[in-house]
Amino acid sequence: MNVKQAYDYSVLFLKANSVDEPEFKAKNIVCSIAEITLNDFILHKDDFIATKKLADYLWRLKSGEPLQYILGKWDFYESEFYVGEGVLIPRPETEELVEHAVNKAMTIKNPTIIDLCSGSGCIGISIAKKISNSKVYCIEKSEKAFSYLIKNCNALDNVIPINDDISNNIVTDMADIIISNPPYIKSNEIKSLQKEVQFEPKIALDGGTDGLDFYRIINDKWFERLKKNGYLILEIGNEQGTVIKDILTNFNNTTVIQDIFKNDRIVIAKRD
Ligand code: GLN
Repeated sequence: MNVKQAYDYSVLFLKANSVDEPEFKAKNIVCSIAEITLNDFILHKDDFIATKKLADYLWRLKSGEPLQYILGKWDFYESEFYVGEGVLIPRPETEELVEHAVNKAMTIKNPTIIDLCSGSGCIGISIAKKISNSKVYCIEKSEKAFSYLIKNCNALDNVIPINDDISNNIVTDMADIIISNPPYIKSNEIKSLQKEVQFEPKIALDGGTDGLDFYRIINDKWFERLKKNGYLILEIGNEQGTVIKDILTNFNNTTVIQDIFKNDRIVIAKRD
């Protein structure tokens, strides 16, 4: 089977099994197996493709496994991150969080940044890559996720990975920016999320009974690690803006910002 035939077959198979985005997923798996970029698809349309691997990938997609886990890596911000079972898949909304942090960090000489609940490290590592004179702490509790974080920060000497719970405030440095995309789904709502999300680690999604546990920890334990005039930048659920403003009592000038889909998604606060 060649690349083009494999693509056509995959689209048919995915459609027949009601998998969403069949063309997008088919193209991604076929290009991954053929070891070509998406842009080179036409150029390599007559290349031979390994059908055993294709069948395996198609069955995994049919089962609901996220495309990103099958590919083993995913683009985020300006680079590619290793992902797989046990680590949250980086989301496009989160890139906006990084953009805000990068813009602020650029105005600070040798900024120190702390990324809480780092997961794959996509936030902290993206900032560290963009701002080479920064020092970025990445704190992640799950050992599985931490193993991806370590792989993703390969050869970057301005990232300090720490495998710990954010309830244990073990960083002694003071930060110019504290950033986090913590778990923020209510425990009892996780079951109702789409099939693909069920493959992702609960620990990365579950924010406790009201979804807000981690914002309380950040307010209580991390305020003292932020320098005066430093920024707190957090991702939030789209209905959490008002209540999180009330939780962040230690911080000042708390502002809620919407993402490109016009959902409340980011909170920025300051320490005066
Ligand atoms: N910081 C990581 C991300 O944004 C992981 C977040 C999490 O585990 N909740 O993808």
